[in-house]
Amino acid sequence: MPQLPLIESNTALFLDFDGTLADLAPRPELVQVEPELVGTLHTLFERLDGALAVISGRPISELDHFLQPLRLPAAGVHGAEFRTDGGMVSKTSAAPGLELLIPHLEALVRAHPALRLERKSVAVAIHYRQAPELAGVVDAAVTEVLRHAVGLEALPGKMVVEIKPAGVDKGDAIAAFMKSAPFAERMPLFAGDDLTDEPGFAAVRKLGGLGVLVGQRETVASVTVPGPAALRSWLHRSARALEGAGGHPRAVPNEAEPGPARRTTTS
Ligand SMILES: [Mg+2]
Repeated sequence: MPQLPLIESNTALFLDFDGTLADLAPRPELVQVEPELVGTLHTLFERLDGALAVISGRPISELDHFLQPLRLPAAGVHGAEFRTDGGMVSKTSAAPGLELLIPHLEALVRAHPALRLERKSVAVAIHYRQAPELAGVVDAAVTEVLRHAVGLEALPGKMVVEIKPAGVDKGDAIAAFMKSAPFAERMPLFAGDDLTDEPGFAAVRKLGGLGVLVGQRETVASVTVPGPAALRSWLHRSARALEGAGGHPRAVPNEAEPGPARRTTTS
């Protein structure tokens, strides 16, 4: 595979969060953000004229919490939440059937206390990181609860299966960002680690850009880096190089201001 070039000033940069910017933790709330990372993302945001977005399975509110005081453009819950600037988050509406599934999933977690149920606005995740042997049990249960559900689909990830609105993925989210300024006309680059990032790699490839897989596996990404530490080191080096290249920095949005809703809602 080719070497990963430093980020250039005409890049539209899309970054997954867990397992990419931050090391994975035993539970999602225990994730730690390297202190230097926030400053580096700030610099990159400025030097790329605002063309930097976080593309995550987490709700955008959690991304804001981990990356404070930054409020970066973001797609959350795999594209079901969307924010183009520091302002309002627009959301795909929750499928009406989602609430009906919850009691079944709660029963599953009661039967297997090592599992963890995570509610995320319009989606729900069942984590089995504490008990990898339960992968099959979780898969079977999710298949069963989705048998009659409309507008919902399963999304397997690392030690987790999510149930999310059908028809949204990280590829669509990146393609939506690329339709308007400051992202449009730039070379898209997306870095991610999980199976759920593959649609994002496919989307940037289709747009003539570069997919960067953090980790090692079968992938449609063009380049790989060994882990989040290597990815962060590349971001730090790129930020320093772009800073050295000069240019006009742009203010980072860090206050909640109403913004235009970008992607309105369908279920
Ligand atoms: Mg990830």
